[in-house]
Parts: sequence; C-alpha cells; structure tokens
Amino acid sequence: MRLILVGPPGAGKGTQAVHLAKYFKIPHISTGDIFRANLKNGTELGKQAQTFMDRGELVPDSVTNEMVKDRLGNADVANGFLLDGFPRNTNQAQVLDQILADKKMPLDAVLELKIDNAQIIKRLSGRRTCQECGAPSHIEFEKPKVAGVCDKCQGALYQREDDKEEVLTRRLDIYSEQTMPIIKYYEKFGLLKNISALGDVTEITDKAIAALK
Ligand code: AMP
Repeated sequence: MRLILVGPPGAGKGTQAVHLAKYFKIPHISTGDIFRANLKNGTELGKQAQTFMDRGELVPDSVTNEMVKDRLGNADVANGFLLDGFPRNTNQAQVLDQILADKKMPLDAVLELKIDNAQIIKRLSGRRTCQECGAPSHIEFEKPKVAGVCDKCQGALYQREDDKEEVLTRRLDIYSEQTMPIIKYYEKFGLLKNISALGDVTEITDKAIAALK
C-alpha cells in the first residue's frame, strides 16, 4: 500500500496515520515529525525549517522535497509507505510523482480526511504533543491517563507553538490556498478517496480501511 493522507491541520492525520501504518504494516512518514525531530536535535535542517514552522508557513519546497526524496530512498519503503503531511502543494505533488515514477512505485491511493474549520479550532486548541515521541493527545477528547504525561512513553506533553490561535489561522489559510489544489490534482488521476474526520478514532480508522480496500 502506497498511500498519502491529506487533510487540514487538526483532521487527525497523525493519529490515523499511526493506526493505518500499523494495519497495512508500512512505515509512517510524517514531514512535520521529521522537521520537529530536526528542530529538537538542533540540526542544520531544523534551523532552516524553524522560522517557517513557527509562523505556520510551509518550509520551502527545495528543502522539503529533498528531505522526502532522501527518506523514500530508505529500504523500508519497499512494501509501501504512508505519507502524512506531504505533499502540501502542487509543486511537491509533481516532484513526488517524479520520484515515484523513477522508483517504479506508483501511488495506490490518496485519502482525504474532511472536517470544517470550527471543529478544527476546537480540536487543535486542546491538542497536546509528546515532547519525546511526538504522539498527539487532547485535553478533552483523547485524555492521557495522567495529565501532562504521554501514555505511550511517559514523555512530557506540550502545546505546539503552531497550535496557538494566530498561527493556526495562518495554517488554515495556507491549507485552503496551497494544499486544497492537490486534492483536485489526485482526483483527476482517480486516486482520491475521502471520509469524514468526525467521530471516534477507531470508527474513523475502520472507515479509512474500508475506503482503501
Ligand atoms: P504538521 O505536523 O504536518 O502540521 O507540520 C508542521 C509544520 O512543518 C508545518 O506547519 C510546516 O511548517 C512544516 N511542514 C510539514 N510538512 C511540510 C511540507 N510538506 N511542506 C512544507 N512544510 C511542511
């Protein structure tokens, strides 16, 4: 299964990606997670990405595309992959097409998680992320067993700078201006499936699996 997960910030891509990657036994490749890991480790890539991430803007394509090309060069993608958060604009989609064509690894599907802006704001303002493993939780809808502590690895939970309101508005604008066009792009190739991102986590995963089978 070679899959792209697309949806606005707060659609639950990260959460669903973890479940779907496990179900299909494929690596979960999240460009946001890779950037955050680089930020945390103070790498050159992290430094290049930081200002854009803090503003809720896209990291330049030259940096992002190269990073994804590199990641797709790993042997673990031989049986498939799940891309989460990439591509995010038409140029990235075209570059990805080229990378996959060169590797003779065509995409199987693009799954869109649909949700409206009011719901997104409700979700993201309460989202907390693990400082150690990046797993998401929610102060209301996906409460950790112990407040402020990640259920998976016991790391500390924090609120991402870009989940705060002003930056969030900017991310939503960027999603509709730059990312929505790729949905049409994949629809043209007959690859698009969509499901509602509302409901509980397991219910959405089940709908996603049914749509992909
Ligand atoms: P995410 O965790 O997917 O919401 O990504 C967090 C931030 O990382 C985004 O707001 C961007 O600044 C950056 N980022 C992640 N994926 C991409 C991408 N495909 N292109 C450009 N920037 C990205």
